[in-house]
Amino acid sequence: MPNILTPEYECMSRDALCALQGERLRKTVKLTYDNVPVYRERMDKAGVSPEDIKTVEDIEKLPFTEKTDLRDNFPFGLFAADKRDIVRIQGSSGTTGKPIVVGYTENDIEVWTEMAARALKAAGCGRDDIVQIAYGYGLFTGGLGAHQAATRCGAMVVPMSSGNTARQIMMMRELGSTMLCCTPSYATMLGETIREMGLDPKRDLKLKSGCFGAEPWTAQMRTKLEELLDIDACDIYGLTEIAGPGVAFECLEKQGMHVNEDHVIIEIVDPETGKNLPDGTPGELIFTTITKTGQPMIRYRTHDICTVTREKCACGRTTARMGRITGRTDDMIVVRGVNVFPSQIEGVLVGISGVAPHYMLIVDRVHSSDTLEVQVELNDANFSDTVAHIENFRAAIVERIKSVVGIAVKVTIVPPKSLPRFEGKAKRVVDKRETASLGLKCE
Ligand code: ADP
Ligand code: ZN
Repeated sequence: MPNILTPEYECMSRDALCALQGERLRKTVKLTYDNVPVYRERMDKAGVSPEDIKTVEDIEKLPFTEKTDLRDNFPFGLFAADKRDIVRIQGSSGTTGKPIVVGYTENDIEVWTEMAARALKAAGCGRDDIVQIAYGYGLFTGGLGAHQAATRCGAMVVPMSSGNTARQIMMMRELGSTMLCCTPSYATMLGETIREMGLDPKRDLKLKSGCFGAEPWTAQMRTKLEELLDIDACDIYGLTEIAGPGVAFECLEKQGMHVNEDHVIIEIVDPETGKNLPDGTPGELIFTTITKTGQPMIRYRTHDICTVTREKCACGRTTARMGRITGRTDDMIVVRGVNVFPSQIEGVLVGISGVAPHYMLIVDRVHSSDTLEVQVELNDANFSDTVAHIENFRAAIVERIKSVVGIAVKVTIVPPKSLPRFEGKAKRVVDKRETASLGLKCE
């Protein structure tokens, strides 16, 4: 079967998969109940015992785990294994608040490597490939996760880490890298720099595909990236608490991310009520690990919003697929009572031809009313056009945002290359209301 690393797990029948998940869930619940006081206390309080968990459906009886649990029990309080069996610490990049750390046993590294290797394989990775890894290496799971995966696929790994763009491009050319792994925002920056250097990816590079993730990005951004680098750009999802990149991944059909369901159980719940939602309904993504031993996670609330489908994919895999992450519940901006996800604005901007894939959202409060300013760059050619032309562009963007997102925003067209570029995860929202309420001065 092409591009499938483990057909025995990735192409299982739903019945066989549910039976396997049930068995692994029972073991994980017992492991955490016996070894992690927080889980035991919480289950006792909810009146659930490990014996109540018989099938995968029983998962709904279990209490949720939150990011605050990791902070409150920092650093080792959630370990289910002996500290001596923990062989690696990984940490969250701290996009939202204080960093957290997660302990991995040798088994957990193996589980993660297999999940991530399936992702790279699905994007076409094999022994003939030269994989350039431009995710940061370190506590952040991106670099090491992609590294382990590419090694498992038998590829030649180029462990660049993020940054040093000129050197990245030089290595890409000289070595003939065939795959690229980094955040979509860094890939965009690499693509633009390659073009600015007068290079043509088709002529001068050997890149064919890449796995891009660690931050939300839209379908429109994918199209831009695929054009810029002349590649297939596949989405890859992960989080430190569950395993880094590879929890879910796109195959070349690009119709949602396959969840490694033999290792994790996916649920979508209503973020307000915590009740499970039917397939296809957007809600908060919840993961339970069922093969990890170091720091297993039971019903972990990711705060990421997406949908799930369990229909079989044209690639042959039968695993559930998550839709694109439309945002995190905690990065939703509420502007004059309207909920806005940055991805909605990105979808509008990047979908307009002539607009560059770079923007910033500035939220403020003026005379006790919220304001949202969208700063965006035009491509060089459009920016050098007449003032009237630029004004037309601006008005068109205001109009499109109003019709899609439902709010009036201020759009500012800024000169090409004046907005920040990101080598890792992009930070495109500046909320001046938060700093104002803390009595801090904004820069
Ligand atoms: P954090 O960003 O919370 O500090 P991590 O580095 O562990 O911690 O990143 C995990 C988070 O990154 C996920 O919960 C999700 O919000 C985001 N993320 C990861 N991959 C993707 C992806 N492919 N699409 C959208 N968001 C993603
Ligand atoms: Zn598929």
